[in-house]
Amino acid sequence: MSYRSVLAALAASLLFVHAALADVTLIHAGELLAIPGKAPSRNMTIIVEAGRITGVQEGFAEAEGARVIDLSDHFVMPGLMDMHVHLQGEMGPNNDRDRLKMSNQLMQMRTVYYGMKTLKAGFTTVRDVGSSPQEMYAVRDAINAGWIDGPRIIAAGGVGITGGHADISGVSPELMEFWTSPNVCDGPYDCRRAARNVIKYGGDLIKITSTGGVMTQRATGTGQQMEADELEEIVRAAARMGRKVAAHAHEEDGIIAALEAGVASIEHGTYTGPRAIRLFRETGAYLVPTLLAGKTVAAAAVESDYMPQTVKDKAIRVGRDMAGNFEKAHKAGVNVAYGTDSGISPHGTNAEEAVLMVEAGMSEMDVIVSATVNAADLIDMSDTLGTIEAGKHADIIAVDGSPLDDIAELLDVDFVMKGGRIYKQ
Ligand SMILES: [Zn+2]
Repeated sequence: MSYRSVLAALAASLLFVHAALADVTLIHAGELLAIPGKAPSRNMTIIVEAGRITGVQEGFAEAEGARVIDLSDHFVMPGLMDMHVHLQGEMGPNNDRDRLKMSNQLMQMRTVYYGMKTLKAGFTTVRDVGSSPQEMYAVRDAINAGWIDGPRIIAAGGVGITGGHADISGVSPELMEFWTSPNVCDGPYDCRRAARNVIKYGGDLIKITSTGGVMTQRATGTGQQMEADELEEIVRAAARMGRKVAAHAHEEDGIIAALEAGVASIEHGTYTGPRAIRLFRETGAYLVPTLLAGKTVAAAAVESDYMPQTVKDKAIRVGRDMAGNFEKAHKAGVNVAYGTDSGISPHGTNAEEAVLMVEAGMSEMDVIVSATVNAADLIDMSDTLGTIEAGKHADIIAVDGSPLDDIAELLDVDFVMKGGRIYKQ
């Protein structure tokens, strides 16, 4: 489309509100990956009005009064989406001290700080799958209201069993008593109650832990912990009220039990084998691989001394096995949605997962699809996120060179727009 026809189209839509032209932003993209999975185009213009994309045109359009953002020497693409973060903390030797000394209020401030690191790294949407829920819902809602800056947050509430991975560990019995979540449950009906409780207080989805986990300070392994009847009740109670369930799972028995119960995603999925792969393909559930978490915990186990031995043992084993099994699952056609477990790794380094995924045999395009189109599908937001098309939120990032040639380009994002507002330029 020519400059004149773009101008005419803009003028027609704004004929009676001439002053509003100042609210039109034209982004000139040297190379534009509008729809991940399809080939990029050269020399394109994205039209942004009131936080939304209203058009994508060929050539570098201009219009009187419209703001132009010149990214004609950049690669422009949809904002990245990380489906597994924990914005409330960061793993390290100070965890125990922080937990004892920090007020909830100060922790909230730090959550906002971690959120901004994530946004400035090009991740415009995140799914937080485990923080103290009321605090995370407040941050989510404050960002949505425009009171504070940060990425779009889809926030989970956790449901877990007594003594399981989601339950408190590693502190005195008195503190355990004090910190036990009301959503720790046992048996199908109690877990049904807990799932409903998450929804009552504002959870966008329910996070469960069908197997043990690396960071639990109890020697309870990484195998299945929740029973099939508990998993089924949680998924059913969630579905009745329009919520999905994400299941943390390492060993294959727990992956299979969660998939059979109907969860939307398996987080980590370390020991995904042939039986789990078949179920993934039958159900269409997503695998959220978190290779960066595997690498980070394995390195911390070897290089530092703050982890108890039981955590170290699990970390080394899971870290060793994650990437190889992910490669087999991806090659077998399992749906993959991007996730890092940031909070295990430092916030703002989320793009390192992309490098690890390519190292594990995934194509650059498939990695980008997992962090845009697939992630949007997982959170049921394909209508508004995941691509650069008319009607979608103006969540747009830019990098120097093409990440389709070198995925490491994503480590250095130069431009970040979320909802039409620029956060980095
Ligand atoms: Zn996690």
